[in-house]
Amino acid sequence: ISSSKIASDGEMLRGKVMKEILSHGFYTSELWLRNSSGRKIPVDMKMAAVVSEAGDESNFVITITDIKYRIKSERELRRLADYDSLTSLPNRSKLTVQLEQSILLAKENASLLAVLFIDLDNFKNVNDSLGHSFGDSVLIAVAERLRSCVRRSDIIARLGGDEFTIALVGLDTLDAVVKVANNILLAMQRPFTVGEHDLVISPSIGISVLGENGSDVETLLSNADIAMYHAKNHGKNNFSFFSDSMNERLINRIALEKRVRLGLENDEFVLHYQPKIGLLSGHIVGFEALVRWNDPERGLVAPNEFIPMAEELGLIGEMTWKSLKVALKDLRRWRTHNKSMYLSLNVSATHFHDQSLILHVNNLLTKFDLPPEALKIEVTESALIKEPEKATQTMLELNKLGVELALDDFGTGYSSMAYLKRLPLSTLKIDRTFVSDIDVNDGHKAIVSSAVTLVKAFGCNLVAEGVETKEQLDFLVNHGCEKIQGYYYYRPLPATEIEIILAEQKKTD
Ligand code: C2E
Ligand code: MG
Ligand code: MG
Repeated sequence: ISSSKIASDGEMLRGKVMKEILSHGFYTSELWLRNSSGRKIPVDMKMAAVVSEAGDESNFVITITDIKYRIKSERELRRLADYDSLTSLPNRSKLTVQLEQSILLAKENASLLAVLFIDLDNFKNVNDSLGHSFGDSVLIAVAERLRSCVRRSDIIARLGGDEFTIALVGLDTLDAVVKVANNILLAMQRPFTVGEHDLVISPSIGISVLGENGSDVETLLSNADIAMYHAKNHGKNNFSFFSDSMNERLINRIALEKRVRLGLENDEFVLHYQPKIGLLSGHIVGFEALVRWNDPERGLVAPNEFIPMAEELGLIGEMTWKSLKVALKDLRRWRTHNKSMYLSLNVSATHFHDQSLILHVNNLLTKFDLPPEALKIEVTESALIKEPEKATQTMLELNKLGVELALDDFGTGYSSMAYLKRLPLSTLKIDRTFVSDIDVNDGHKAIVSSAVTLVKAFGCNLVAEGVETKEQLDFLVNHGCEKIQGYYYYRPLPATEIEIILAEQKKTD
């Protein structure tokens, strides 16, 4: 190898080399050289001065050793020290380092971090009856499957034997942790095919949470381990939190899930209707259908206590169709009083991307012989944000049917005006948090009045919701708001009471 080919920093190197040689008599370094075919190779270079009889250092001996293989084996050693050779997952020592970093980050961002300790149930039987090499293949398959249950940013490691650990980072709520644990249980229910065997292997999972169950790697791991034994003692193939309070939440949640399902089967979900008042006429122009759960144990339950769960369980679609059917039937009766009255239905984010939405809406309108303008669909900004393209598509299709769209909770989201302007919205509903503070908060006053201006510029209607006082009403009227929904006029009411109100209104006309 010609020394003239020494990599780019030649000049600098020469100065440095000479300095070293003059002071120590030799120079040694690892660097990249190119061989005659132009390929870069790592080398170890040693250079020593040959001192002439006259005492000057005019000649040098250079030995160059190819260290490609040494580097490779060093890398291999490092890999062995950090990763499990069977599954290639990080091992305990690598996990500790990664987890330490994640803990620091979670503390800094005050975000949630949960450690899942996973142990396979009865794995010893697999090894004993089918042999260790079979067991090894199963562990590799288990590692793969676990990996598919978590995000890339999560940590997954094998601690040895049939023990795995997952650290979930950046989740928002404990419910999200429960969801991942549930997904793992579900994913593991599919049999593993190894050789000619189909094998079902269940895990027991223990969960500890940063902060409440420990603030360092050691404590979090050992508490997750203890929780795992709790899961084993409770029938295996399940998961358990370290804290009693968290377990209690989990048990309540599972019970609630069952009751929501049952409630839907037993038609326990009922509709209340909140009238919307047109300020020009002072009359009811339409109704918003608001679902309540008539729970035999607790009585009427508000939607925010069960809608998120219904969404998660995939039940929201069924709930919405049942509601829409009842609501359109009621509306049809009420339209004998006033042919232009309409019904507003809230449609959830998760459901808004479902293609059957359009089909159902169309079928039900036909079934009850109602024109499309008898129905408005309310959608929240958060529903739009998740998958804006799909949401826009759904909205355009609804619009094609002639069904108008209203943006609910306007002002609480982060959508840009440019984005909102592109959507086929006929109405914006200003959120009640702004309305409720009109009397006391000048900032909110300004927001409401600029919302009115904005909505007019968009060519949309504005509905103010949550109007409770005369002062709020007056402010809105003075700023040109035309439709009002709020306790000042009516609370959400059952259909029977709406009938009475409509009959009264007819009398006074
Ligand atoms: P939303 O669509 O913004 O509905 C308005 C909420 O404000 C209703 O709460 C209503 O009772 C309440 N409200 C109306 N006027 C006033 C007032 O003057 N003062 C106060 N303090 N509150 C007022 P509700 O019925 O508890 O519903 C909460 C949310 O649940 C709704 O917010 C909607 O997002 C959701 N929701 C309700 N029914 C359904 C449904 O059938 N499907 C879906 N996906 N979501 C629903
Ligand atoms: Mg609404
Ligand atoms: Mg709203």
